[in-house]
Amino acid sequence: MSNNVKTTCPYCGVGCGILAGLDETGKVSIKADPDHPANFGRLCSKGAALADSLSMEGRLLYPEIEGTPHSWDNVLDYVADKFRDVIEKHGPDALGFYVSGQLLTEDYYVANKLMKGFIGSANIDTNSRLCMSSAVAAYKRAFGSDSVPCAYEDLERAKLVILTGSNTAWCHPVLYQRVVKAKKENPDLMVVVIDPRKTPSCDIADLHLAIKPGADHRLFNGLLVHLHDAQESNPLFVNHHTEGLDAALACAREQAASIEQVAASCALAADDVRRFYKLFARTERVVTVFSQGINQWSYGTDNANSIINCHLLTGRIGRPGMGPFSLTGQPNAMGGREVGGLANQLAAHMDINSAADRDRVQRFWRAPNMVQGEGLKAVDMFRAVADGKIRALWIMATNPAVSLPDNAQVREALKKCEFVVVSDCVRKTDTTQFANVLLPARTWGERDGAVTNSERRISRQRAFIPAPGQARADWWIISAVAKRLGFAEAFAYQEPVDIFNEHAALSGFENNGQRDFDISALAGLTDAEYEHFQPRQWPLTAEQPDGVTRMFSDGRFFTESGRAQFIAVAASQPVNPPDAEYPLQLNSGRVRDHWHTLTRTGKSARLSAHIYEPFVELNSEYAKKNYISEGELLCVRSRWGSAVVRARLREDLAPGSVFMPIHWNDQFASDARVDALVNPETDPVSGQPEFKHTPVQIETYAANWYGFVLSRRRLEMQQLDYWACSKGKNLWRYEIAGKGMPEDWAGCARRLLCQTAEKVEWIEFFDKGQSRYRAARIEDGRLESCIFIGPEVTLPDREWLSKLFASDSLDDKERGSLLTGRPASAEEDSGRIVCSCFGVGIKTIEKGIREQGLQSVEAIGEALRAGTNCGSCVPEIKAILFSSINQQQK
Ligand code: SF4
Repeated sequence: MSNNVKTTCPYCGVGCGILAGLDETGKVSIKADPDHPANFGRLCSKGAALADSLSMEGRLLYPEIEGTPHSWDNVLDYVADKFRDVIEKHGPDALGFYVSGQLLTEDYYVANKLMKGFIGSANIDTNSRLCMSSAVAAYKRAFGSDSVPCAYEDLERAKLVILTGSNTAWCHPVLYQRVVKAKKENPDLMVVVIDPRKTPSCDIADLHLAIKPGADHRLFNGLLVHLHDAQESNPLFVNHHTEGLDAALACAREQAASIEQVAASCALAADDVRRFYKLFARTERVVTVFSQGINQWSYGTDNANSIINCHLLTGRIGRPGMGPFSLTGQPNAMGGREVGGLANQLAAHMDINSAADRDRVQRFWRAPNMVQGEGLKAVDMFRAVADGKIRALWIMATNPAVSLPDNAQVREALKKCEFVVVSDCVRKTDTTQFANVLLPARTWGERDGAVTNSERRISRQRAFIPAPGQARADWWIISAVAKRLGFAEAFAYQEPVDIFNEHAALSGFENNGQRDFDISALAGLTDAEYEHFQPRQWPLTAEQPDGVTRMFSDGRFFTESGRAQFIAVAASQPVNPPDAEYPLQLNSGRVRDHWHTLTRTGKSARLSAHIYEPFVELNSEYAKKNYISEGELLCVRSRWGSAVVRARLREDLAPGSVFMPIHWNDQFASDARVDALVNPETDPVSGQPEFKHTPVQIETYAANWYGFVLSRRRLEMQQLDYWACSKGKNLWRYEIAGKGMPEDWAGCARRLLCQTAEKVEWIEFFDKGQSRYRAARIEDGRLESCIFIGPEVTLPDREWLSKLFASDSLDDKERGSLLTGRPASAEEDSGRIVCSCFGVGIKTIEKGIREQGLQSVEAIGEALRAGTNCGSCVPEIKAILFSSINQQQK
């Protein structure tokens, strides 16, 4: 039993502190750590529901070769023999490692050391390439180092917070709540949101610039010109601490002769642009938060540099309440950067293209096969797999068969690859199906190590539950392979602290203040010091053992001249613009309560209740013109692939834009992978793919029937044309649809719901004239599963039906209600869940507004508790309130 173990959330880059516990009954408790400086006692809906994700369901428990369990020794020998064989026959570059921002720093460090110093290849890249490598490249171009200048407290100390390409409310919810609170306490704090979509982050925006997708650099280039011409720059800072302004300004000026020109190129009103520029010019304390909406373009690095340029021109960096602030998507994207987790990086922020840095690392590691230059970045790595240049691939803690663009090609590459090893904690993912070898890894709650959040703060993840089966830590697995490859001495780690100490020592090795990443104060931690490590922001040196809140406060940068660099940013547009055949622009991103490819959050009924089906958002007017209705199934198609998803209509989305979430995969839907559609263009500097833009067309899916299934057991739905599955309380829920009209509904339904041959009690109702079919399977008086089919999208509500699964027996009324499709009692359906923390549905909120006269978010919170915990649903509650009051006034 362990209680209040201090650990860190494994989801986003905010890196919230958690107090986790396990009681004698095996129940996990999760609480926000009131003392962690990232969250000070707050958690978002995902963090709060972490206990749900820890079930053993679907875990990979034993090492396997070609689907057969083997001992660790056998499997490790097998992997090492295969790798050795590939290296001997084809050279070290025939091997690839594809790793993850989910890894802990120690895992990441060991993987990089093995590949870049001992195997002798830089073909190791990470899924962090997909979320923030453009920010890394931009910082390096501007500062000479990958240094995030800001701290979270700057968001509270700012007078103007700009959220650009960042739906912070959903993707970094606790940080967003910090800004909400700061704004409440200080109404003078202005918030500008720059986003083509009206996202929940706009809830607190004083100004929302619904910019043309991909035009951010044009807006910031215009700002650079405006600041300069309006004499709002900081000449002292520019003259003493920067270089390259003239070229950057000249380049920007070509696109920004006037505010009107900028506004036209960004599809914004000139007055709004003027207002934004004036706000920026007149506010000294400005933080510009940017994230995937800036990074995920084929010119994402330029996007980011256009932002940084404006901060350099005004000298708004290195001081409280200001700076260009990249938020990372993953919990340890920053730790991965520290250890050189990208194919174009070297450990401890050293330069892989510098002979001196390579020599330094080689001497420190005593590496026999030091890499000689950059390796292949993620998209190119999988192209090399497809071409047969990479013959063996080790994938760790990530799901590239879902998450890489041009997914069909990635799957082809994996199919063709001679030898695929996957380390994961989940047995069945879209990627594990391609593995020759599966290695069971420990997951959150079972492993120990360090992570670094978006503000450079290193925290500990600590184990508080025992690892199941034969799951091992990733660092242990990698070291065990390294030993078998002949590198026993260099990988003789006993505990994560051994690795952390080496990582810290390397950061200080021959550093002398020349490199930004220096945590040498942490080299030589004892076991107890490592165990009790308190979150701190790097650099952490002998002079600054408690860390540094913000970088560059002395105006010294890590370029050769010590000056920050302005970067000339030319006007760009996507390589594949929309055309007559593919006229719409597809944007992709996260939803509030899900994470990555659903391997964790898909296990939580609480989190799945908010949005339980993949969808495409499109403009209501566009939909009307094209005879598309809400809830209809649509086929979204690009030149690279297609997906079938539910239509959601929005008035506030630009007519030419559509949006799809990134989370759904073949384990949760028949055909809803957004990356099957996404084009494979990458940024030439950062290698980051263009997830925010792909030209697509949309057509109706023309289903002849729609339906849903609720079942206590997970069912196989492969026989259906369309299905999407989500976890409910005590059940799995399937939305289904089909094109053909079966002759025998009863037979079809029985095949779906009774996938075993046992005898069951079966009740059914069939209205042939109206093509309506309902049936339920009952076992020992208890509802086991039910199916509802009809000709229209609109079907009976599901929430009251779900409640029937909570009971151990059905009475006659309930049996009747199953067949009529209406609740047995007058009790109303609570509707789709809005507040995940307290399970409050949309209908309950609407009823409260209507019947109890709840006229504010606060009143709703007081009466129904909705929105009073993590606050993530507050923007949605406001929207419901607004729409309900409007309805009442009509
Ligand atoms: Fe986890 Fe939410 Fe905090 Fe992100 S904001 S670290 S998902 S609790």
